[in-house]
Amino acid sequence: MDCLFCRIIAGEIPSAKVYENDKVYAFRDINPQAPTHVLIVPKEHVADASELVGEKAHIAADIFAAAAEIAKNEGLTGGFRIVTNCGDDACQSVHHLHFHLLGGAKMAERMS
Ligand code: 5GP
Ligand code: ZN
Repeated sequence: MDCLFCRIIAGEIPSAKVYENDKVYAFRDINPQAPTHVLIVPKEHVADASELVGEKAHIAADIFAAAAEIAKNEGLTGGFRIVTNCGDDACQSVHHLHFHLLGGAKMAERMS
């Protein structure tokens, strides 16, 4: 298995888990860019958001349901931002679909 996030999900590489169910795993980003910075990933290996069509479309709903729960658990009452980088122009560095859940401070209005 040469996918970093598949190895994290399998427990081969340690992570700071914040949430797990049968379809989704979430853990703290190793290089946080906000007071709360959680990565939410599907347990099924999917490369990026461009694959969320057809029988994989449900993964988006699975992720967002988990994100709402995590945001509540993390106390992000002031709001939060969810970002997914898809492909080279977006600087995706790990090619296992992941959503960044960011919160805990006022963020910049611009996103690029
Ligand atoms: P991307 O740039 O692909 O959107 O985001 C990848 C994210 O994964 C980055 O924010 C980076 O800090 C995080 N990351 C990379 N390697 C690890 C790791 O081994 N453990 C954790 N917890 N996060 C990682
Ligand atoms: Zn993977």
